[in-house]
Amino acid sequence: MQSIYNYTLDMLKDYMISLGEKPFRSQQIIEWLYRKQIKSFDEMSNIKKSFIEQLKNDFDLDRLECVTKQESFDGTKKFLFRLKDGNLIETVLMNNEYGYSACVTTEVGCNMGCAFCASGMKKKLRNLETSEIVLQVLTASELAGIKITHVVVMGIGEPFDNYDNVINFIKILNEPLGFEIGARHITVSTCGLVPKIYEYSEFPLQVNLAISLHAPNNEIRNQIMPINKTYKIEKLMQAITDYIDKTNRRVTIEYILLKDINDTVECANELADLLHGLNVYVNLIPYNEVKEKPYKRSTKEAMVKFFDILKKRKINVQLRREQGGDIDAACGQLRSKHIK
Ligand code: SAH
Repeated sequence: MQSIYNYTLDMLKDYMISLGEKPFRSQQIIEWLYRKQIKSFDEMSNIKKSFIEQLKNDFDLDRLECVTKQESFDGTKKFLFRLKDGNLIETVLMNNEYGYSACVTTEVGCNMGCAFCASGMKKKLRNLETSEIVLQVLTASELAGIKITHVVVMGIGEPFDNYDNVINFIKILNEPLGFEIGARHITVSTCGLVPKIYEYSEFPLQVNLAISLHAPNNEIRNQIMPINKTYKIEKLMQAITDYIDKTNRRVTIEYILLKDINDTVECANELADLLHGLNVYVNLIPYNEVKEKPYKRSTKEAMVKFFDILKKRKINVQLRREQGGDIDAACGQLRSKHIK
């Protein structure tokens, strides 16, 4: 039996048609699943009994099993969920002035191997199914008793390495009679899988794109992000430029500040040259140190100096405040504590 949370509206429609049911019923089902958040098919009071039996035969409504929940003084909540095959994944809820954002995981482990990141210490075992990504948002919101208004696909894994399931996840989140999370409130972050950036630029919803750049040149990027050996910075920048031309949307550039690696004055100037004239927004991110990794967080002074240089060079930039620093918030830290 499979989870009904794998099904987009179109997939539900096809399912209805295959059973000789009216396709508009699929819209009602979406409402039951995401508006009323039912726990049993019997609650679907406008669906006839025989069809409810059919649904029960074909699908389950199971939530994710919560193993631990941590809560930070700043309102950040972090969940460790167990999947049906026993694998563990993390989901984070962040409390922002505009509402709650969920940060979701897309893969069990990650193959991208970024040198500073805790997630990549465990190789990818498999992609998450669409339902396992959807259920992170649903289960976390139920357990926390809050409404989630924004979603960032920035948890463990490389979303563009599980492209189709992530796209179906976005379609489900965005469904007007479902969760109804606006496309502009959804952000997908990639380490730079260039062909997928082009594919994503064709996706009709107005979702956001964030690029984990983390270095202003190939020399430094090669050291910390193996993906750069496949897609060099020039190719990545071209893809970003083409994406902006095609979609007219601003791209977020993520840049973790690593002490003495990518946080120098030269790096700031080189980054300003690289991004000059592009419709981008730079998020400077304080590094969450990982015990097993040699990298250190930049000093406050280095971070502020880096920020000031970009600002002076007329780049849109913010120095992101840190959240959940007291609760293993760095990507993959909570999970890596619980697995061998
Ligand atoms: N694979 C995707 C999404 C997951 S990582 C990507 O690379 O974008 C989400 C973001 O967290 C990335 O920018 C990643 O580089 C960053 N990150 C990873 N480990 C971190 C750490 N210890 N401290 C701060 N940011 C980290």
